[in-house]
Amino acid sequence: MTDSPRSSTTRVTQVRPKTEGWSQKKDADGRPLLQFASPRRGKPPVHLADLKPEERVERLKELGLPGFRAKQLEKHYFTHYAWDAAAMTDLPASGREELVAGLLPPLLTEVRRLETDRGDTIKFLWRLHDGALVESVLMRYPGRITLCVSSQAGCGMNCPFCATGQAGLTRNMSAAEIIDQVVRANALIRAGGLGDPRGVGHEEERVTNIVFMGMGEPLANYARVMQAVRVMTDKKHGMGMSARGITVSTVGLVPAIKKLADEEIPVTFALSLHAPDDELRDELIPVNSRWKVDEALDAARAYFERTGRRVSIEYALIKDMNDHAWRADLLAEKLNARGRGWVHVNPIPLNPTPGSIWTSSEKAVQDEFVRRLNDAGIPTTLRDTRGKEIDGACGQLVATTEDEAAAAALA
Ligand code: SF4
Repeated sequence: MTDSPRSSTTRVTQVRPKTEGWSQKKDADGRPLLQFASPRRGKPPVHLADLKPEERVERLKELGLPGFRAKQLEKHYFTHYAWDAAAMTDLPASGREELVAGLLPPLLTEVRRLETDRGDTIKFLWRLHDGALVESVLMRYPGRITLCVSSQAGCGMNCPFCATGQAGLTRNMSAAEIIDQVVRANALIRAGGLGDPRGVGHEEERVTNIVFMGMGEPLANYARVMQAVRVMTDKKHGMGMSARGITVSTVGLVPAIKKLADEEIPVTFALSLHAPDDELRDELIPVNSRWKVDEALDAARAYFERTGRRVSIEYALIKDMNDHAWRADLLAEKLNARGRGWVHVNPIPLNPTPGSIWTSSEKAVQDEFVRRLNDAGIPTTLRDTRGKEIDGACGQLVATTEDEAAAAALA
């Protein structure tokens, strides 16, 4: 027998956002407030990475520049991680500045960089052309280098445990603003700036894995995220990365999951579930008011069927909120009901937001959660909380910087 909340023999503590003082913002129709459309703001300058290869040539011609130079700019930017005209000595000196200004306008200004003692995790805070702030986190692991990228400035999904969600959506990022995070990270790695390469020449290294788990809901910025993924994977005109190393995550925008499955780009798909029951998920992930747990899981299963790619279920373990043993059992039941071998679960202890009412689950509870899923035949791996010591939860660095800016303005 599981210790379900219906069991009379076991007392289970249940913390809820509502009872802890969080109240759901509502729209004019009384539904949970979700922002799907990006507020209108000045668009970032058009950049090489926003355009398809043929559009790059056209763009240069429109600017009165030789279209065939697009190929050289692609090489400089995607392969050599160069965006400074002075470094592109193979281009004729006359007209070089115009070429670079035309297709490689500056997009990200580094505001802050935080790193762990060993230097193998680096968090960047970037300012976009209109002052919006976004983050990315670069992590060295044995045998791979992962970059967690942002896809929106802010986020409209309003998840109560998330600093980004509480600040709302500022705007969608352009494809090039997403790609520039990768190029900037690669430039740093090449310069030897990421921890100890352990015998591997850092000139040969670059980001191998991308996770769309920074600020924003990637599937709410679908077209630009897909353009960025195409650039990342394009072997001829882009970065030539393996699609399998790219993880696109969502809190469950079901129609967009279906669209993603039809793209024929075999990225890894991750569903941020965080609760297997609608009762809690309605509060924890407000988008659950549109698409319920079963609909999101059906879409995830369909993704597996269409692509053959095993799906990840992300589950932030929050003390007494969603970490109950009966929820591990219910999750296993729902996943097994949709077949075997199609999914694995990644529980991750929550990175608490400063001042948050929630904390990460206790170690014994985490282990029990994982054990139950594994015993039910669901491959489950507890993920580490890299970057915790440097405000690793999404949106925290932005929140800290904005607080400091506000404090400075008041001083
Ligand atoms: S958890 Fe993800 S989807 Fe939810 S508000 Fe934060 S960034 Fe958006």
